[in-house]
Amino acid sequence: MITFLDLKIINQQYRQQLIDACTRVIDSGWYIGGTELDRFEQNFAKYCGTRYAIGVANGLDALILTLRAWKELGKLQEGDEVIVPSNTYIASILAISANQLIPVLVEPDPNTFNLDPSKIEAVITNKTKAILPVHLYGQLASMPEIMAIAEKYRLLVLEDSAQSHGAAILGKKAGNWGDASAFSFYPGKNLGALGDAGAITTNDSELANMLKALRNYGSHEKYKNLVQGVNSRLDEIQAAMLDIKLSYLGQEILHRREIAQVYLQGINNPLIELPKIEGSAVEDQQHVWHLFVIRTLHRDALQQYLAENGIQTLIHYPIPPHKQQAYREWNDFSFPISEKIHSTVLSLPMSPVLDIQDAQHVVEVCNKFSL
Ligand SMILES: *Cc1c(COP(=O)(O)O)cnc(C)c1O
Repeated sequence: MITFLDLKIINQQYRQQLIDACTRVIDSGWYIGGTELDRFEQNFAKYCGTRYAIGVANGLDALILTLRAWKELGKLQEGDEVIVPSNTYIASILAISANQLIPVLVEPDPNTFNLDPSKIEAVITNKTKAILPVHLYGQLASMPEIMAIAEKYRLLVLEDSAQSHGAAILGKKAGNWGDASAFSFYPGKNLGALGDAGAITTNDSELANMLKALRNYGSHEKYKNLVQGVNSRLDEIQAAMLDIKLSYLGQEILHRREIAQVYLQGINNPLIELPKIEGSAVEDQQHVWHLFVIRTLHRDALQQYLAENGIQTLIHYPIPPHKQQAYREWNDFSFPISEKIHSTVLSLPMSPVLDIQDAQHVVEVCNKFSL
């Protein structure tokens, strides 16, 4: 059986170091808001190339709290519109709704699955205050174009980088393009904790300070509350383990790229459409292959055929946000590109511990698929 993503094997690689880190935290007697979090925040900010990283409880909170911080700082207010791709994971949209802001869905470029910059200007109104591009599947959205639009209309930009730690365009990484960026360290992400965790990166000191207060009851100084905050902290024990895993992220990304090359060069079947890497300067676009997503008009048949051949696949994602019950008021909206993407995508096995031979086997099996 070729599993989609084996978290046990991924973490076993670093087992002793992880145990040592946990032991250090256990023996320190200090479990929240200490040196482990400080160290990880500094190292993660350095990795992304930003001045600040602020650890929070999960990726959804990273998104919610950034928008909330902008409200507290007077940069956003209830009813403002936020542009977001229509084919994203629902968390990006929940963060907007949770702040009483209005999500404005825009279709992606079907080739990259990312927000299509040429469709942004048409939906900008005098209520539009922010763009929330999502770097889906490990590839940055077209950030140079998106930032140019944001500058022209004076919009805030919050990147959803939950799937793209380390991805870059022109050497500039996810997390360092927008005014702020939200990361998830959910165990299955490219940088995964052994539980829930998230962070925000930014170069804005005012925003960083507000986020540090918001995650801790709105308190910037002990027993003094600046705003009505929440409890969304990143535990010392998770920070300690994340710091170890961060040091291996670079090599894990290289392995993902190797697997992607095996698939890209080997899969040759008219029934299967391979993912495309954006831009003429392909070497500049540093895809980190969180997921390797193919498209096929015969998804159910292909998924079943691969399963019969011992290959586990998943669908990211089967239902677009506007067709979810949670957003029933949008159920009649039409986003044909998103709908087509959601009905044709299939994610092949991809992980930092997937064997190259196993990837080659996936290629052979895919190439023999017929109707
Ligand atoms: C995983 C994910 C999130 C949410 O992260 P959690 O840590 O699970 O809350 C947000 N956006 C995208 C695109 C994601 O993939």
